[in-house]
Amino acid sequence: MNTKTAVIAAKLKKIRESYIKQLPGQLETIRAAYSAFVLGEQGNAPLEDLHRRIHTMKGASASFRLGILSSFSLAGENLAKEALRAAEPLGTSWHQKMQEVFDRIEQAISSIDSLQGMELQIQELAIAAEETTERERKLVYLCEDDSYQRLTLATQIGCFGFEVLSFGELEHLINAVQSAPPDVIVMDMIFPDRPLGGAEVMQTIQAGRENQIPTVFISSQGSLSNRLSAVRAGSSAYFVKPLNVTELCSTLSLLTSAVKPEPYRVMIVDDEPQLAEYHALILQEAGMRTLTINDPLQVMSPLFEFKPDLILMDMYMPGCDGMELAKAIRQIGAYFSIPIVYLSSETDLEKQFQALQTGGDAFLTKPIKPERLVSSVAARAERMKIIRSYMVRDSMTGLFNHTATKEHLDTTIALAQRKQEEVCFAMIDVDKFKLVNDTYGHPIGDRVLIALSRLIRQRVRKADTVGRFGGEEFAVVLPACSLTEAVALLNELRESFAAVSFQAKDETFSCTFSCGIAALSLYGDATALTTGADEALYAAKAGGRNLVVAAGGIGGMKK
Ligand code: GH3
Ligand code: MG
Ligand code: MG
Repeated sequence: MNTKTAVIAAKLKKIRESYIKQLPGQLETIRAAYSAFVLGEQGNAPLEDLHRRIHTMKGASASFRLGILSSFSLAGENLAKEALRAAEPLGTSWHQKMQEVFDRIEQAISSIDSLQGMELQIQELAIAAEETTERERKLVYLCEDDSYQRLTLATQIGCFGFEVLSFGELEHLINAVQSAPPDVIVMDMIFPDRPLGGAEVMQTIQAGRENQIPTVFISSQGSLSNRLSAVRAGSSAYFVKPLNVTELCSTLSLLTSAVKPEPYRVMIVDDEPQLAEYHALILQEAGMRTLTINDPLQVMSPLFEFKPDLILMDMYMPGCDGMELAKAIRQIGAYFSIPIVYLSSETDLEKQFQALQTGGDAFLTKPIKPERLVSSVAARAERMKIIRSYMVRDSMTGLFNHTATKEHLDTTIALAQRKQEEVCFAMIDVDKFKLVNDTYGHPIGDRVLIALSRLIRQRVRKADTVGRFGGEEFAVVLPACSLTEAVALLNELRESFAAVSFQAKDETFSCTFSCGIAALSLYGDATALTTGADEALYAAKAGGRNLVVAAGGIGGMKK
C-alpha cells in the first residue's frame, strides 16, 4: 500500500467505524417507525417514514460493501413498498415477514466485522484518486492519413504544450491505444476506402474500455450524418477543416485537465452522515472541494456561501425529498442552471424518471463505484465551468475578455485598498500590427497574438490577471506590485517578445509591443488608473514604440 492509499484507508476506516457503530441505533429507529405505523392512524405517512428509513439503511450499507446487511434491508424495503401499494389492510404474514427481516438485520449488524468489504472499497477509491493525478504534459494521439496535414497539425498542437504522437494508419493508432492510452485523441474521419473510418475505429476502441478516452474529430465534411457518426463514437467535439488550431487546442486543454487550478465545488446533501462523508472523501481525493449537508432544510445559506458548481443529492430525506429540494433550488435565479445529480439507491426507473423530470441532470445509483462518481460529477461540473468561461473568456487567446478584466481590476483595487497595498495596471499594444496582417495575412497575425498572450501568462504571477482588452491590446492587473517592479517585469516581457521569431511561408519576422503602466497610489480609482495607463501607452507609441512607459514617473527604457 503506498502512502496515498494508506492515508485514504485511514480516513475511510474512521468513517466506516462510525457508520457501523450507529447501526444498532439506526435499527432501533426503524423498529420504532414500524411500531408507530402499527399503532398509529391509517394513512401513508408512518409507512412512508418506515420505507425511507429502511431504504436509507439499504443504500448506505451497500455503499460500505456490507452485502448481507444490505440484502436484508432490501428485503425490508420491498416489504415496505408492497405495503405502500397495497389496497387492502396488511395480513399477519406481512407483519411476520417484516419482523423476520428486523431480526435478520439485527443478526447481520452484530456479526459485522469492521474490516469486511473494506479492502475492496479502498482499492476502488485508490483507483479513482490515481486517475485524477495530473500528468505533466498531456499526451495527444493524432490520427490523420494525409501526411502533410498530420505533420503540420502535430507541430502546432505541440506548440501549445502537448506531447503529440501521430499516426497515419488506423491500425497503428489501435495498437498504440492498447499499449498506452493517451489523455485525448484527435481523429480524422475520412480514411482511404473508409469514409467513416475514424468513427468506426473509435467506436471499437471505446467499446472495449471502462473509461472513455476524450476524442475530438476533425473532418473536411461537417454534414450532420458525419457529425452523428462522431457522436455515436463518443466524440467530445467536432472540428471542420480548415482547422482553427487555437480553438482545437483550447478544447484539448479543457478535455485533458481533470484537476483544474480552481477545484470543482460540490455540495453533498444526504441525511446519512457517514455516507455523505464517504462520498465527500471520494470527491476530495479526486481534488474537489466538498460541503456536506445532512439536513435538507439547511441548504440555503451554505448554498450562497459555498457557491457550489454542482449539487449531489439524496432522494429520500426527512423534512423534504430530493425532488422538492431540487425544484426549490432551481427557483433561485443564480442556481437556475446548476447541475443537480441524484445519488440514491432508488432503483425504480419510474421514480428515477420523475426525479430527472423535476430538474435533475443525472441519476446515479448507490452503491456507486468511486471512479464513476468522480467522472460523472467532474463532467457536469466542467460543463458549468465552460458555460461560465464563455461569458468571461476571449475565445481566441483564452484570456479574460474586456468586461471580465475590468471586473477583476475593480475587485483587485477594492481588496488592495483594504490591505493598503499597491496595484499596477499595464496596457500593452502590439506595434505596427496592421502591417503584420497586411504582409503575412490575418491567420499569421492571430498566431502572433496567441503567442503574446501565452508569453504574458507564463511570466506573470498567479495572482495577476491577464486580459485581452481589444484586438491587439492586452491588459495586466498586478496586485501587490510596485511601479518599479511592474516596469521591470514588463520590460522583460517586451524583450522576450521581441526575441520570438515567427514563421510565414519562407520568411521569418518578429514583432514588438509598447506598454503603458499606471500605479493605483498615483491615480486612486479604476477609471483614473485605466486612463493613466492608456496615456502612458500613447506616450510609448509617440516615443518610438518597443517601449515601456510608467505614468507619472519612471521613464521607459528603449532597447
Ligand atoms: P500601432 O503601432 O500604432 O499600434 O499600429 P497598429 O498597426 O498596431 O495599430 P492599429 O490600431 O492601426 O491596427 C491594429 C490592427 O490589429 C488592425 C486590426 O485589423 C488588427 N487586429 C485586431 N484584432 C485582430 C485579430 O484578432 N487578429 C488579427 N490578425 N488582427 C487583428
Ligand atoms: Mg498596435
Ligand atoms: Mg491598436
